[in-house]
Amino acid sequence: MKYFDYKAPDRAEAKDARVSCIGFGGMRFPRNEDGTIDRKAAGALIDRAMEAGINYYDTAYPYHGGESESFFAEALGKYPRSSYYLADKLPVWKLEKREDVRTIFEEQLKKCNVDCFDFYLCHALSRKRYDFICELSVLEELEKLRAEGKINRLGFSFHDNADALEYILSGYDWDFAQIQYNYLDYTMQDAKGQQEALVRHGVPFLIMEPVRGGALINVPKDGLELLKNAGGGSVPSYAIRYAASADGVFCVLSGMSDFNALEDNIATASNFVPVSDNEKDMLSKVADIIISARLLPCTECRYCEGCPSGIDIPATLKLYNAYMSSEDKKTLRSETDKFPARPVSCIACNACTSVCPQHIDIPAAMKELAKLTEKPQ
Ligand code: SF4
Ligand code: SF4
Repeated sequence: MKYFDYKAPDRAEAKDARVSCIGFGGMRFPRNEDGTIDRKAAGALIDRAMEAGINYYDTAYPYHGGESESFFAEALGKYPRSSYYLADKLPVWKLEKREDVRTIFEEQLKKCNVDCFDFYLCHALSRKRYDFICELSVLEELEKLRAEGKINRLGFSFHDNADALEYILSGYDWDFAQIQYNYLDYTMQDAKGQQEALVRHGVPFLIMEPVRGGALINVPKDGLELLKNAGGGSVPSYAIRYAASADGVFCVLSGMSDFNALEDNIATASNFVPVSDNEKDMLSKVADIIISARLLPCTECRYCEGCPSGIDIPATLKLYNAYMSSEDKKTLRSETDKFPARPVSCIACNACTSVCPQHIDIPAAMKELAKLTEKPQ
C-alpha cells in the first residue's frame, strides 16, 4: 500500500500523519432492500480494507441517513484506535446558533464511539456557508474542541469555485481541505485552480469523487477504447492514479460498494505509479469525449434525497446518462417504468437544485426525460 505523509502546515497545531493513498468513503455502502446499510457485506469490505492497509475512514452526519457514523463504530470498533484515522464532518447547514456545534459534535463522537476525530471538517463549504460559520463563531467553538483534544486536525470539504476557495483559505489557517478533483473536473469545474490555490496556501488536501460518482468508469465507447488501448490498468485505476498524482494531495477517497471496486483500488494503491504526461494527454481526450456526450455530472451523493414527488433523482439521472450514451429509447422507457415516480411527476420545485453540489439543472433534465419516456396521448 502506498502511503502519503500528511505534513501539517507550519503554523498549525496539528500533528503529521502517514495516510494510505486510498481512503474509504462511507457514503456508498451496500444496502439492504429497506435502504439500511447491509452491515455484514459492508463490514466485510472494511475488514479487507484494514487488512490491505487502508487507514483513512471518512464519514459524515448525513451519510446513509445518519447510519454511516454508527456503522463505522461497529466495523472499526474491533481494531486498535491507533490503527486508523477517522474523519467526520460538521453539518454546517443544521446550525442555528454557536451552541449547536458542540451538541452535534458530541452526538457524532457518541455515534462513532470514539473520544476524538483525527480529521474533522466543516462539511461542504461554499463562500456563503463560510460567511455563515464566521457569523456564528463556529471556528472558535471548534478550536475549543481541538484544545480539549477532541479534534486532531481541522479542515473543510468544499463545493464552490476557485475564487471562493481562495477566499476561504485567506480567511482562516486550516489544517487541511477536501476538494473534488478528477480528470473531468480539472477543467470543467476548475479543479486545477482549486488545487493551485491549496498549494499556494500550503494546505494539504484530500480528494473526493476521483471517479465522479462512476462517470469516469461508465465512459462513452470512444473514451473506453482510449483507456483500454493505453494498457496502463483498469478504467477506474486511471482516475485514482490521476487524483493521487496531484501535487499536495495526501489521500484519495473512494466510496466503495463492493469487492470489485475495493480490490481494484487496493491493486492501484499497492502498485501506485503517478500518471505520465502521455497518460495525462490521453485522459484529457477522454474528458473531452465525456463532455461532448453531454452527460449530467451527478455523483450520486444523494444530498437531493426527499423529492416531494417521490422521484429517485440520482437513479433517474443515471438512466438519463445511459440514454445519452446509447440513445436506446426502449430501454429508457422500460427502466423508467420500474421507478417509484416518473420524471414527468417533477413539479420543478427546485428543492433538489438548491442542494446539489454539482449545480445540475435537475428539473430541466426531468422535463427532457419526460418528453422521451411519456407516450404521446
Ligand atoms: S425539482 Fe423536481 S426532481 Fe427536484 S425535488 Fe422538485 S419535484 Fe423533485
Ligand atoms: S443530483 Fe446532485 S445532489 Fe443529487 S445525487 Fe446527483 S450530484 Fe448529488
